[in-house]
Amino acid sequence: MADCLFCGIADGKIKVNLVYQDDAVLAFKDISPKAPVHILIIPRKHIASVLDLDSSDGAVIGQIFQVAGRLAREQGVADSGFRVVANSGADAGQSVFHLHYHLLGGRQMAWPPG
Ligand code: 5GP
Ligand code: ZN
Repeated sequence: MADCLFCGIADGKIKVNLVYQDDAVLAFKDISPKAPVHILIIPRKHIASVLDLDSSDGAVIGQIFQVAGRLAREQGVADSGFRVVANSGADAGQSVFHLHYHLLGGRQMAWPPG
């Protein structure tokens, strides 16, 4: 989608620190990390938010969570613990409207989130 930052990253037009890619999914380091491990995992397909998922998106969401587990192991946070978070809408602080999951780990986190 034109003017979408994460579509630009998926197309290779905007450079990121890529940690994983396949036909459907991309993972890269967050530009402003909120934890020692902070990776964004996105579908290549433009989906604006959780609210815009449909039944054909089930496979890519499953793949995203598989990639999250694989990266948690690779990044050394599988045993200590980590979060996989999708902010949706204004109250949650979503700032980029291309679906993405934050993989956060490497420090103690509070619950409930702020
Ligand atoms: P949201 O606030 O929508 O849940 O998350 C968007 C995330 O994208 C933020 O954590 C922000 O730091 C990250 N981000 C925004 N622009 C860029 C960019 O150009 N490159 C990378 N790697 N991350 C970005
Ligand atoms: Zn997009």
